[in-house]
Amino acid sequence: MSKDYTTMWKELGLNLQAHDGLLSVLTNAYKNIYLSQKNRPAAMDYFDFVISEVHGLRIEELLEAKKANKKIIGTFCIFVPEELILAVNGVCIGLCSGAEVGSDSAETHIPRNTCALIKSFMGFKLSGLCPYVESADLIVGETTCDGKKKAYEAFNEITGKVYVMEVPHKKDDSDRFLWKEEVEKFADKLTELSSEKITVEKLKESIRIVNEKRLALQRLSKLRAADHAPISGLDALLINQISFFDNPVRFTAKLNELCDELDKRVKSGVGVAPKGSPRVMIAGSPMAIPNWKLHAVIEGSGAVVVGEESCVGERNYRTLLDTNFSTVEGGIEAIAERYMTIDCACFTPNTERLDNLEEMMKTLNANGIIHYALLFCTLYMMESYKVQSVFKEKDMPFLRIETDYSLEDMGQLKTRVEAFLEVIREGNSN
Ligand code: SF4
Ligand code: SF4
Repeated sequence: MSKDYTTMWKELGLNLQAHDGLLSVLTNAYKNIYLSQKNRPAAMDYFDFVISEVHGLRIEELLEAKKANKKIIGTFCIFVPEELILAVNGVCIGLCSGAEVGSDSAETHIPRNTCALIKSFMGFKLSGLCPYVESADLIVGETTCDGKKKAYEAFNEITGKVYVMEVPHKKDDSDRFLWKEEVEKFADKLTELSSEKITVEKLKESIRIVNEKRLALQRLSKLRAADHAPISGLDALLINQISFFDNPVRFTAKLNELCDELDKRVKSGVGVAPKGSPRVMIAGSPMAIPNWKLHAVIEGSGAVVVGEESCVGERNYRTLLDTNFSTVEGGIEAIAERYMTIDCACFTPNTERLDNLEEMMKTLNANGIIHYALLFCTLYMMESYKVQSVFKEKDMPFLRIETDYSLEDMGQLKTRVEAFLEVIREGNSN
């Protein structure tokens, strides 16, 4: 970190000793997993910098924004429309945590057999570790799964800042109607909180900003389809994780710079793994920072991860938003429609997800799929069977992994992944 932020952290009420411990673990993990990679694109420098300042400069920026009367809105799910937050001049921050720290404290409020993601955000707050939660003016939850739904009640008791959007679990007309009303209510909530009126112009501008960000992420995804993959899956995962909390305009410009460099790499045949290395796609539960475990195991075993069918990945940027509206109501309707295209496992039925998975496997030239579910994430654990049957029919190598944030199963994961990569290699050589 470029300077000493102790005073800022103290004022935010962080537990300084525990926070120092967290930062040192993070810095070491980053060094070992990220900085040890060979042949990284030069433009990754920016993203390394963002991570090094994740609890420093970015928090300082948020506190500056608050002084300028901007509201900081924390979110846990890609169903929360960033466009509306920007339209009231707010800052949207993704809050999920991907580390095991604090899960013991979390278990004093929620059951032990809760998914690691929920335990982590509860644990971070209870242990005084998250400057984002402390900076937020509003924390937006959603009813995508039972675990989150109930955890937000507890989270609200602890933070007093939680607002919950109801996400329906089907996509019939009545569900779409309910969702549209939820988006309208959220727009009202933001207007009330910020005292900023949402106008057509502001909506169009914020949609433009978010569309540009999604287009840059789509561009990165397309570049990963090249064999020689020009960037590691680890680096691409990091960029996707950063997309949730960096300033969107700056992030988009930096990502496009990186993509220009990757374009050149693809043209001149420069890649991060030897040509013909197994190309793996990951599908399933989201991976919040610093959950880099599975990518590290796969790429450490000689394969390259070419895509993530996940909310920290394709599900977040697959669809853009149409700006063809002339009233605020029309804009809000367009937003509601766009978000209903998300194929989260919370929906029933969810055949769209299977179609999207097949499409991704083709466009990314993947030759194996690993379905990843966080332990106790019933939604993705359940859907993995459907995904398996689709790819079994096509004779596509498939591996199901259920794990949490602990590092205890690293050895076992490595053995399973290596065996899986052997199957891909055998298939590739036939
Ligand atoms: S997996 Fe579903 S619930 Fe989780 S972030 Fe994505 S859309 Fe939201
Ligand atoms: S990982 Fe699964 S169980 Fe955990 S919050 Fe997300 S959808 Fe719910």
